[in-house]
Amino acid sequence: MDMSGKVALITGGGSGIGRATALVLAQAGADIIVNDISPEKAEGVAGEVADLGRQALPIAADVADHTSVNTMINQALSNLKKVDILVNNAGIGVEVPFHQMTKAEWDQMFAVHIGGTFNCTHGLVQQMIDRGWGRIISISSGAGLMGEAGLVHYSAAKAAILGFTKALARELASHGITVNAVAPGLIDTPLARSIQPETWEKFVKITPVGHEGRPEDIAHACAYLASEEASFVTGQTISPNGGIWM
Ligand code: NAD
Repeated sequence: MDMSGKVALITGGGSGIGRATALVLAQAGADIIVNDISPEKAEGVAGEVADLGRQALPIAADVADHTSVNTMINQALSNLKKVDILVNNAGIGVEVPFHQMTKAEWDQMFAVHIGGTFNCTHGLVQQMIDRGWGRIISISSGAGLMGEAGLVHYSAAKAAILGFTKALARELASHGITVNAVAPGLIDTPLARSIQPETWEKFVKITPVGHEGRPEDIAHACAYLASEEASFVTGQTISPNGGIWM
């Protein structure tokens, strides 16, 4: 896949799946804006992108904060002139039984996952429409498809991303913009490793391939959806998950 001349913005790009996606898209020739709430993480991955010979712009911003996202988008567009590919990846995951969940925990989960997806997509979509080309990819989860105990807020927010994806795909199809979701299974990242070790083992045990996935397994799915070759794919959810659900 050749992504020369394309510019991608990856939220939560400083770690795990976002980092791997930044590097895979950069290897394919794209210039990369690495967003993360942590400036150190964004700068670290931007350095890795630059080492691959691509332009790299780290921007620290909280995707849940509408004003910060607008500032980020202005900075991105004034530096790199356009964003062709948006990967809504930033995420958090905190296990808590529903009956002990606070309203603040519920709100935060929605603010980051679906609020962040709204903020970034809404801020970038007009310039994609103006150019008649765009790729919007949002990271959902198996939890959003199947539901996960201890993660009711996360599951609900990840399911919201799927409705957002399908509706927006219909709206933007005639503008040359595809909108898709990726719903990963268990992927070895700092976020996933925060679950209880017993839960981790339970997931590995019920995954037919017999092991967890790597961040690159998701990055390659994102790269396909971001490519020219995927122009007929929209409103879909791809699930690299080792067969844990089918
Ligand atoms: P990770 O913790 O390695 O990376 C997430 C990154 O997002 C971190 O660098 C973090 O600093 C950043 N971030 C968090 N909140 C942010 C905010 N408000 N604004 C900007 N950046 C923020 O985790 P990961 O596993 O790579 O997660 C990436 C995405 O994949 C998440 O949306 C997650 O829900 C989803 N996901 C992960 C798995 C898995 O098994 N790892 C499975 C399904 C879905």
